[in-house]
Amino acid sequence: MEAEALFRRQCAASLNEDGTTDGQRLVRLVIDTYREQAGSIRSLERHANLTLEENEALQVLLNQANRSLTEQSHLLEIVLNHLPLGLCIFDSEQRLIVSNIRFQQLFGLEADDTRAGTSISSLITKIDGLEKPEVRAATREGRADGGRIRRREWEMNDGRIIQSVVTVLPDGSNISIHADITDDRKAAERIAFLAHHDPLTGLPNRIRFREQLDMALGARKPDDQIALIHLNLDRFKSVNNTLGVSAGDKILRQVADRLRALAGKSNILARLGSDEFAILQCGREQPWNVMALADQIRRELSEPFFRGEKAVELSVSMGIAVCPKDGTETELLLKHAGVALSHAKSGGRRGERFFSSEMEAQLEARHALEADLRRAVHNEEFELHYQPLYDMAERRICGFEALLRWSHPTRGRIAPMEFIPLAEEVGLIVDIGRWVLKRACTDAATWPADIKVAVNVSAIQFISSDLEEDVSAALAASELAPERLEIEITESVLMENRDEALPILHALRQRGIRISMDDFGTGYSSLSYLSSFPFDKIKIDKSFVNDIVDNKEAFAIMRAIILLGNALGMRVTVEGVETAQQHDLLAQEACDEIQGYHISSPRPAFDVPQLLAGSQRSGKAQAV
Ligand code: C2E
Ligand code: CA
Ligand code: CA
Repeated sequence: MEAEALFRRQCAASLNEDGTTDGQRLVRLVIDTYREQAGSIRSLERHANLTLEENEALQVLLNQANRSLTEQSHLLEIVLNHLPLGLCIFDSEQRLIVSNIRFQQLFGLEADDTRAGTSISSLITKIDGLEKPEVRAATREGRADGGRIRRREWEMNDGRIIQSVVTVLPDGSNISIHADITDDRKAAERIAFLAHHDPLTGLPNRIRFREQLDMALGARKPDDQIALIHLNLDRFKSVNNTLGVSAGDKILRQVADRLRALAGKSNILARLGSDEFAILQCGREQPWNVMALADQIRRELSEPFFRGEKAVELSVSMGIAVCPKDGTETELLLKHAGVALSHAKSGGRRGERFFSSEMEAQLEARHALEADLRRAVHNEEFELHYQPLYDMAERRICGFEALLRWSHPTRGRIAPMEFIPLAEEVGLIVDIGRWVLKRACTDAATWPADIKVAVNVSAIQFISSDLEEDVSAALAASELAPERLEIEITESVLMENRDEALPILHALRQRGIRISMDDFGTGYSSLSYLSSFPFDKIKIDKSFVNDIVDNKEAFAIMRAIILLGNALGMRVTVEGVETAQQHDLLAQEACDEIQGYHISSPRPAFDVPQLLAGSQRSGKAQAV
């Protein structure tokens, strides 16, 4: 019993360590002892001619050995049946010496199937008949004593995975340990899957995509072409902001499903980041095939998500790089597709671009401009110029539009159309816009009380900053009456962020601030935008004025828009009036205000008093 207690302790100690090998070591211990005992008994029996005393002594020894053997067998049984692992031992002729209940359970065997003496082959036949396990993995390694260790994984019919470790001793006998590793393996597989896949869509992630690209490029034959499309959803951030993250996630899953269907089995699809995807098209002639695929993607993703009332419409920008033309290495191909994507984005989105080497140079210039722009915000390198708004009935300047000017330390003056879209893209427009509001209100507070100031506000400022707060701060700091401030917005504000923008616009208007619809006629000019908010003013884009003197149709369109504004009770300003003829023609229409070089180009703030004095003196529209 002492020995049993010892073995129990050894057993426990061994099993407390981790897993199969320890169990195996313990059983090894038992077997070795067993063998030693059996060996000494056989050597004693071989001595035939013994004296009576010797025989008696032998008997005592045999009895002791038998007792010891019985004890050992008992202990072995305890160990075997407490072992949480399946175990079996075969002799050198591959006949079963011993196995435990766990072994039967793991392979679905009956006690009868595992009787001592059963051959290994009949046991395998039985297991096959019951379970038909599949070998998932097999390895073998040599041991210092001349034996071997074989490892195998079986996938059972019911999905369980059983690992077997077979130690083959130099004499051919073997001990095998079997464990159900289904849970461990599933956890490991899940971890491995998550390391290489995106949990939201189940698509391969950036790491996995790089590996796949590596492999595809590695396996490419000299004439093969590989096209890489880098996709990005346009303005997905604002969808997330408006509808919430969970609706955003739903849309991303739907996007992934649509792309999956388009990519099919022959192309490799991955999600590279939040709203970024990539598709690899291998073994096709290019650029035709990738063009066709990009075309399908654009059409498929322009179909609304969440049909019905809550329908969301998206567009996508794509950058395409083709191996070998645009690079034969993973890094380069990815970089070039990214460069092409940046171009697609900055070129007004909704479309695809193929990489070209000029793009790279342009992109570098853009990066340099972006760095300069950041510094400019910090160093306040901006200035506001003011362009008069001329009241046709009163025949005098009634306000000024604030227009941003940037004096670059080395490049000189940079036009707003060159840096504002970039500032919007990188979010710097929020800080710039805040500065413009403050500066414009402060300048306007020094002008006569009946002169208004108009400030342009970007769509981005409605989503990425607290516009109401910025306006309040600018008014408070300058003590400008809210009625003297006009905010100019374009259709894009209502197109992209309608749900966020409308409450802000209403709140601003409630406080007496006027809201103008700028550049009317250039975008969709949808009446639904005009009717969705009670704008105080419509500004007809300068492109309409160009031809009104010579082209009757152009004039008819201008007149119709003026009438529309009047009918909606909105003031109408015509922009870009450059000549006296244009002015005279508009003077006959119900046009409230004009703006343009005919009155004055935008001028620095210190010219404002002079402009006002000139307008007062002349009392008529002419260059002041
Ligand atoms: P916009 O709001 O339509 O401003 C009018 C633009 O027309 C100005 O260009 C102005 O200089 C130009 N312009 C004025 N009169 C005439 C004319 O008779 N003929 C012609 N051909 N052009 C005329 P600018 O200053 O280059 O500004 C361009 C655009 O940049 C602005 O268009 C506006 O969208 C944007 N912008 C300017 N300042 C700001 C700002 O502070 N914030 C924001 N968000 N955008 C601004
Ligand atoms: Ca404007
Ligand atoms: Ca305008």
